Amino acid sequence: MRLINKVILITGSGSGIGRSTALLFAREGATVIVNDLDEAKGIETLKYIQDAGGMGHFIHADVTNPESVMLMIDQIIKKYGQIDVLFNNAGISGVGALHEIEPDTWDRVIQVNIRGVYLSSKYVLPHMMKRKSGNIINMSSCVAEIGLARRASYSATKGAVLALTKSMQVDYASYNIRVNAILPGTILTPFVENYLVSSYDDRESAMASIKKRQLSEELGTPEDVAQAALFLASDESKFMMGSPLYIDGGATFGKNA
Ligand code: NAD
Repeated sequence: MRLINKVILITGSGSGIGRSTALLFAREGATVIVNDLDEAKGIETLKYIQDAGGMGHFIHADVTNPESVMLMIDQIIKKYGQIDVLFNNAGISGVGALHEIEPDTWDRVIQVNIRGVYLSSKYVLPHMMKRKSGNIINMSSCVAEIGLARRASYSATKGAVLALTKSMQVDYASYNIRVNAILPGTILTPFVENYLVSSYDDRESAMASIKKRQLSEELGTPEDVAQAALFLASDESKFMMGSPLYIDGGATFGKNA
């Protein structure tokens, strides 16, 4: 029970990494606020939490919409009085080299992946500052550090999230608020399943090739990332501030052959 008495908001926890993290955090004693744009998937995550005997609550909100985020945060504060941890996890992929990306796609990737982090943090921070206590985990990616083919918009956003994390940490350290980033490699979630199908002609050969990105020659699992998020959310990481945590099978710093 490493998260007992903590109220934790996880954006985009109706699927993939967010869902795995929500289930793990609830098992560790947290009250988990599940957020997602997809109502059915969010409710499903909450049901899994409750079926396993955990505590949680679902709030439907679009992290790109200020009114929607404000209402979500107000609702949490009214019901629970505090938010101990915010995990800015919601994100979308954007496949394409720069010249291939349509302006609308570019804008949407920026909106969800950067504006979403900005808005959720903006409305949670005053509550954390008032209590002089808080913990924010931002979802970046190892593409913030390495070039990956045809991920121009996506890597731009994840690099921005990493830079933002460091800047936020400096501004809020005096309020006893920690801000760190997670940088996963390729993790098998619906997000990756979708781009395997939409961006490659043959799913199986694409899968074989993306496995080679990792020294492990395997994809990570959502649970691998959830365990890293657990460390950051718990007080065990109390000396970690403004830092990237890589969970990538060696994709960032290793090189296969
Ligand atoms: P996923 O698609 O399985 O889950 C993302 C969830 O976010 C979905 O349920 C979706 O409905 C929700 N969402 C999207 N837009 C939203 C919005 N505007 N408001 C609220 N919710 C919204 O994806 P995943 O693989 O679990 O990815 C989670 C995060 O991890 C993303 O930020 C992604 O960029 C990041 N990431 C994933 C990988 C990977 O290989 N899967 C690697 C590095 C980083």
